[in-house]
Amino acid sequence: MDTTLNIDPAAPTTGATASELAFIATLPTQLFIDGEWTDASDGATSDVEDPSTGAVLARIADASPADGKRALAAAAHVQDAWAATAPRERAEILRRAFELVTARADDFALAMTLEMGKPLAESRGEVAYGAEFLRWFSEEAVRISGRYSTAPDGKSRLLVTKRAVGPCLFITPWNFPLAMATRKIAPAIAAGCTMVLKPANLTPLTALLLTQVFQEAGLPAGVLNVIPTTRPAEVTGPLIRDSRLRKLSFTGSTGVGRQLIADSAHQVLRTSMELGGNAPFLVFEDADLEAALDGAMLAKLRNMGEACTAANRFIVHESLSGEFSQRLADRMGALRLGRGSAEGTNIGPLIDAKSRAKVDELVQDAVAQGATALTGGSPSDGEGHFYPPTVLTNVPATARILQEEVFGPVAPVVSFSTEEEAIALANDTEFGLVAYGYTRDLNRGIRLSEQVDVGMFGLNTGIVSNPAAPFGGVKQSGMGREGGSEGIEEYLETRYIGIPDPY
Ligand code: NAD
Repeated sequence: MDTTLNIDPAAPTTGATASELAFIATLPTQLFIDGEWTDASDGATSDVEDPSTGAVLARIADASPADGKRALAAAAHVQDAWAATAPRERAEILRRAFELVTARADDFALAMTLEMGKPLAESRGEVAYGAEFLRWFSEEAVRISGRYSTAPDGKSRLLVTKRAVGPCLFITPWNFPLAMATRKIAPAIAAGCTMVLKPANLTPLTALLLTQVFQEAGLPAGVLNVIPTTRPAEVTGPLIRDSRLRKLSFTGSTGVGRQLIADSAHQVLRTSMELGGNAPFLVFEDADLEAALDGAMLAKLRNMGEACTAANRFIVHESLSGEFSQRLADRMGALRLGRGSAEGTNIGPLIDAKSRAKVDELVQDAVAQGATALTGGSPSDGEGHFYPPTVLTNVPATARILQEEVFGPVAPVVSFSTEEEAIALANDTEFGLVAYGYTRDLNRGIRLSEQVDVGMFGLNTGIVSNPAAPFGGVKQSGMGREGGSEGIEEYLETRYIGIPDPY
């Protein structure tokens, strides 16, 4: 087992540079309510930390329950006026926001890398992906339509229209600080909804910069209100029970999602839930092995493995599982850990000490049950929450790592002999977000895409996320879809108007 870390000696242990700190000092740090930047009503603040060192990067306002109520009041106050705005006007605001985010791509990427840890190249990728939701939904805003038809008995006319759901609450995670916000904000703006956003407290700076962009793009006061807080349940609980709120959209862990669904029952809120995953990555005996390895690197290591879509279990045909594991270990072991903003970094730190401890706990559980680490296998010493890319073979079926979301750069490999067995292994989970399958046999690919129980299937590809496609899961990975033409439907209500035969 190789436990030597490939850490750039100059990079990970040094903190943010003077110019990075000067840049951070230019970012907004207050709450945004009713078109105004404001401190928390009780004066509370919280610190944003650099996951590479644990050092404080910025101090931001920490919303109180009273701030939450003010934010919802502002959203509710302008809901009717906003829903009545011309679709073209809403589209133009989104389009301007897209142009502004794109023009400031380097700023967004740096903010995200500093607060979240991912390498700059990956942050740039997220900026392009996150911005695209703004452009996509600017195009959807002007295509909301209904239908007019004659009832089957000819005795009446049926008019079906769409209208905005109403004020929404958005709760987003830290792993994709921009894209998880734009995936909700953009369709809501397009549909004519107002909103309160509670970004993850670990990564609020990107969301606050995005808020500034919307202000510049001309979004009217009250439409978007942003309230970072370290007291999420205390602040959002009363909003979920407030009859002015009409929709909750949450992205985060299945555990918190379950609780929010229960809370939403109180006033039968519409909910969208983008929850956890446990993606199987299937490699068949007829796969293009080189392509499968390329896909595995993407599906496993994008965002250091801190993605709901991350491949969590590699299920590889017994004829090539040995070669696949070793070649994956060679590639993963050669990656360089370091600060996200340092030149040459491939893998940044995990988000915090708790996450790193959880990743290690799952690795040690598998090893104690007989798994072997071909590369990595234990956390790095020193500051920052680094964990080396790890490949585990001989992983027994009872290992927790096969059932729980790893959320780190760890690849457990198990083998199978028949297609039936592979599908059974893939479906042996409470989650159903995404699966990946590598085979040259098109019929087998179609069988897999039909039989693996997921919301999204990557056929010979390690990445499925696309703003033009419906993103979401089945089983305990959630409900609702974000992106695609389906994404705006989450923010629209259908209304039917009955009309008697006019003749
Ligand atoms: P998390 O559930 O801990 O937190 C998500 C958000 O919920 C944060 O803003 C947090 O402050 C807030 N929150 C926590 N407890 C709350 C409560 N009681 N009431 C109200 N809000 C509360 O998840 P995380 O660690 O930030 O993110 C990682 C998880 O998100 C993983 O499980 C991952 O799979 C999932 N995720 C899913 C998708 C998807 O689209 N399906 C995308 C990204 C991340």
